[in-house]
Amino acid sequence: MTFFDQAGWDGRTYIGGWVTTSGTAEVVSPATGERLATVAEGTAADIDRATALAAEAQRDWAGRPAEERAAVLRRAAAVLETHQDVLVDWLVKEAGSGQGKAAFEQGLVAAELHLAAGTATMPYGQLLASGRPRLSLARRRPVGVVGVIAPFNFPGILAMRSVAPALALGNAVVLKPDPRTSVSGGLLLAAVLEEAGLPAGVFSVVPGGATAGAALVEHPRVPVISFTGSTAAGRVIGETAGRLLKRAHLELGGNNALVVLPDVDVAAAASAGAWGSFLHQGQICMTTGRHLVHEDVHDEYVGLLAEKAAAIPVGDPAAGFPLGPVIDANQRDKVHSIVTDTVSAGAALEAGGTFDGLFYRPTVLSGVRPEHRAFAEEIFGPVAPVLRFGDVDEAIDLVNATDYGLSVAVLSGDAFGAFELGDRIDSGVLHINDQTVDDEAPAPFGGTGASGTGARFGGHEANIEAFTETQWVTVQSRIQRYPF
Ligand code: NAD
Repeated sequence: MTFFDQAGWDGRTYIGGWVTTSGTAEVVSPATGERLATVAEGTAADIDRATALAAEAQRDWAGRPAEERAAVLRRAAAVLETHQDVLVDWLVKEAGSGQGKAAFEQGLVAAELHLAAGTATMPYGQLLASGRPRLSLARRRPVGVVGVIAPFNFPGILAMRSVAPALALGNAVVLKPDPRTSVSGGLLLAAVLEEAGLPAGVFSVVPGGATAGAALVEHPRVPVISFTGSTAAGRVIGETAGRLLKRAHLELGGNNALVVLPDVDVAAAASAGAWGSFLHQGQICMTTGRHLVHEDVHDEYVGLLAEKAAAIPVGDPAAGFPLGPVIDANQRDKVHSIVTDTVSAGAALEAGGTFDGLFYRPTVLSGVRPEHRAFAEEIFGPVAPVLRFGDVDEAIDLVNATDYGLSVAVLSGDAFGAFELGDRIDSGVLHINDQTVDDEAPAPFGGTGASGTGARFGGHEANIEAFTETQWVTVQSRIQRYPF
């Protein structure tokens, strides 16, 4: 049988094996409207079933030698690399990803597995000074069952960046993908881990919407939640987790600024700006959402950006178009209302602002002001709002003028001058002479303010911090006598 043969999983999901549930949901291509598959849809009862299996299987999994857990993750990376077309293909047809974005995501999912294999055998504690002749140490232990909730835009990577390190460190995981990307963000990852020899029950996938997600957050067997998604949902999950005294790692929305200083190569800056705003139709938490451009180069920059926006082909990515559809009609309507409201409020439409079905044209708005919706809100569509500034202090005030703090980029002929500006910028990520969108497995990724709780995913240290508990242990050779 070929790897991930649809006959083996259609109508099912992976909870201790390929099973059905009481409900099903259709997976539909956003580009063509065609039905791609049916998946089992989970309820609170399925979350209960998955967490029970996970709690049982986790004890054995945590007891296995670290090298054995690492080997499973290395094999999973190899399975993915051998069958790379399968994930790329599903990311294109299910998530509307361009081929380049899908290939980048596939590589990053494999990189997370490789990195996590290394995490499994990292040092996991410290020897401590003690006032007594004894061994005193702090060691890291798995938390038990980790609940992972992921969004639709980079469904593979945003699930695997938590799933892989949590497994590496001896936890079991229950994953709830976004219902619009249950295959590339869930079932396919289960097939990869199953093929790699992960014991049954250690990893399960429960497709479903907010109700299934809430059941996972509230479940008493799940002490740690790893959530990536909107700030609105993150707030609800954070409140629930606080009430239940659980840890919730929250990676949320962004409204990321790109600062263009006057001493740049304007053509290169416009190319970086176009990539930052339009890649994957602007549906990335790190998308460049605000272009802050010095008045000396503003008009040239806007002209070049609008030219690029008008020239980028948009269509079905399965047919090779670099930009595809936005995920659904709700998202398209939200994007369009922000664009039209901002134009009504006085901004100029330099390019785009139109759509055909779910295909939204890359859009450039100039003359945007801080009170406009296109400045104040996360758009999550292919829209580049541009503002003009006169001096650096004004630019820094504009950068810091939102509640979000995910990714900021500064373009300048003086790289170290730009680096020094970084001390005045409140964000979890800062790129000098690049745009705002980037991710690598070893980098500690995360945001501040409305972009999240400042938790970091990526790199051994941040992942060990996220998915283990600390235990203080002392050992002395004899029982000492106390005063009574
Ligand atoms: P969303 O919050 O609506 O959904 C994300 C996931 O959470 C989905 O699986 C959804 O079913 C689930 N969910 C929704 N409400 C829930 C609830 N109350 N309880 C439990 N689960 C719930 O997000 P979206 O709008 O579909 O995705 C885009 C958002 O994700 C954007 O805001 C984007 O910036 C953000 N995002 C952040 C990062 C990051 O790393 N910071 C990465 C990608 C996307």
